[in-house]
This record gives sequence, C-alpha cells and structure tokens, in this order.
Amino acid sequence: MKYIDEFQNPDLARRLLDEIRAAVTRPWALMEVCGGQTHSIIRHGIDQLLPPEIELIHGPGCPVCVTPLEMIDKALEIAMRPGVIFCSFGDMLRVPGTGRDLFQVRGQGGDVRVVYSPLDALRIAEENPEREVVFFGIGFETTAPPNAMTVHQARKRNIRNFSLLVSHVRVPPAIDAIMRSPDCRVQGFLAAGHVCSVMGTAEYPDLARRHRVPIVVTGFEPLDVLEGVRRTVLQLERGEHTVENAYQRAVTAEGNPAAQAMLSDVFEITDRAWRGIGAIPDSGWRLSERYRDHDAEYRFSVEGIDTREPAECRSGEVLQGLLKPNECEAFGTTCTPRSPLGATMVSSEGACAAYYLYRRLDGATPGRRPAASARMTSGTPSPATASLEGSPLA
Ligand code: SF4
Repeated sequence: MKYIDEFQNPDLARRLLDEIRAAVTRPWALMEVCGGQTHSIIRHGIDQLLPPEIELIHGPGCPVCVTPLEMIDKALEIAMRPGVIFCSFGDMLRVPGTGRDLFQVRGQGGDVRVVYSPLDALRIAEENPEREVVFFGIGFETTAPPNAMTVHQARKRNIRNFSLLVSHVRVPPAIDAIMRSPDCRVQGFLAAGHVCSVMGTAEYPDLARRHRVPIVVTGFEPLDVLEGVRRTVLQLERGEHTVENAYQRAVTAEGNPAAQAMLSDVFEITDRAWRGIGAIPDSGWRLSERYRDHDAEYRFSVEGIDTREPAECRSGEVLQGLLKPNECEAFGTTCTPRSPLGATMVSSEGACAAYYLYRRLDGATPGRRPAASARMTSGTPSPATASLEGSPLA
C-alpha cells in the first residue's frame, strides 16, 4: 500500500479484526504509547471494534501532557522577565501552570509568541539582538533533534541571545517505569512509530526480555493500529515477548543516524520528572556542558519555584493507564477543552481531549471507576464491536 487512504480501508480492517477475533482466547491489556495513536483509536472507534477481551490502555505519549508543572512555571517566570521574547508552539500556551498559563502572561504584558518551528525562534533572535529569545523545547525523541539542531546553529552563527528551555523526554525509560509499577496491568505495548523512526528499535529488545512483554512498533492509521494489535495478541497467545516492526514504511532498525548524532552532540541524558507520574531515571535530555550558554534554566536562574497541581485533576492516573478520561469526575463538567484543569485536556494529543472531541462522554458513571477486571471482560459487545457500522472506518 502506498497511499494514506489505503490504511483506512474498511475491507482490510474487517479482515484484521476477524484475525484478531480468531486469535484471542482470553483478556489482554495492551498500551498504545503515543497520544497520536490514542486519537486514531478513539476517532475511528477501534477500541469498540475490537473483541471485548482486548482492552487498550492509553499511555503517556503526549509531549504537552508530560511536561512537568515545575517546567511550565519556569516558562511563566522567564516569559514575565523584561526584555525576554518567549517562543513556544501554540498548544503550550493554554497548559495550566500554578495559577496561570502563558496566555495570561501575554495578557499581563509578557512578549509570548507562537512559532511553528524552533528555527522561527532563532530568526527572531537574529532580528532582535538586544532582546533575550527563549524557545520552549518540549517533547520526545521526535522533537528533540530539530531543537538540538537549532542550538547547534545558534552556536555556529554566534547568535548569543538565543536559549532553549529544555524539557525533552525519552520513551524507553517510561516503558520501563510503567512495567515496574505495582499497579501495572499492561501485557503488551504498541510502540510509537515516529519515535522509532528517529531512534530505531535497539532500545526495545532488552525491555521486552526483562519484562517479558511483547513490543510491536506501530504506526498511526487505523490499519496500522489493528496490525499492531494483531501482532501483539498473536505473541501473547503464543507466550512470546519479542520486538516486531509493524511500521516498516517509516522505521528501520537503526533509525536516523544523523538525528541521533545531533542529539548526542548537543544533549546529554538526565533524570526527568514527568507531569502526573514523577521522576524517572535517565528519562530525558538536557543541554550538555558545551552548550550551557544556550540553556535558559542556567541563564535565567529559575530555581525554588513553588508548584501546586489542581487537586481535582487525575491526569497522572490517565497518563499511566490507570483511569480512563471519562472516569474522572471533572471530565466534561468542570474540565473541558475551553476550561481545562489538566494538560491532558489541553493538548491536541491528550487522552482527555480525545475523549471529549470524539464524544466519549458516557463511558462511565461520573465519579465511579469500574473495576479493571470488569472493564476487560464484561459487557455485551456494543453494536460497533460486531460490525463496522457507525464507525468512520465503514
Ligand atoms: S478530565 Fe480534566 S481534570 Fe480530569 S484528568 Fe482529564 S484533564 Fe484532569
């Protein structure tokens, strides 16, 4: 198949669903790591088309959602400083910090600008040599290389008034942390295809072996997700736990060596906190000593900030797959995309936003969390489980 619409073909989807139904003999809980996969699953109703034995658990793969509150508060603090132009992708502007967000900082006189690339921020720095320009560098292995390259360019072109507020995170240590948690119910992973297109698959075999968990590198279209589920279920039913690449049109074993070289030139691996989850060893990057001059945290000395999470937001549980968004009491009532309490409702890749956008408003009695076993096994299949009727895949 060469074209995107072929990866949404209903006949092929039916065939994959039939194969999954034929293979499954008992309940399995699979985690899709990436927020882009979560949106595809909810948008196309894939979780409702699968046999009821298979539960899809939404993972922590949304860059906006996992950026720690402390880092948001540091961004707010820097953006308020006189002489600073603070640049960010648009979806970070509405993420609540302690008491306010970047939009409010802009309303209070801060020069906060939305850019579409870190190179736009570098150009702004070049055009405003008397100002300090800071770019908010967040995200996974997918966004870290262009941000590293921008810092590399700033150094090469001697643009000294450009710095990066770095909050980059790495997926494999998060998978490790999820599997180590005593609450973990995940039995198989759909790994994020775009992350692997950069990093390759070398980091996964050790995880699969240590945790005895199948990991299938998966894309983002409906057939990609169904094929990822099919391969994961086949492994689980056979008692296997290996790494498979079901996204070969984008992922090779070695990934993108040029991007990896840029990462290791500019960044070094460090422990990182994940919003709602906590600190995970070796789960992120920071600028290496050589590039310290371009590190906004170092340049603006933003330490000792007092952070406070809103008590009613349960996005930490959502990000760990312990709670479905529509099981949160605030979902759709006091928390909506217009008035979000947590980052998982703000971000275009957030699980709460996906449930709200695709009208999953009735998944659970508000405030009552169904038992995990009930979610995995109970219930007469919905009409959508038995056919594609009503699904955008039909
Ligand atoms: S629905 Fe809102 S309050 Fe509840 S977990 Fe999601 S973002 Fe937090």
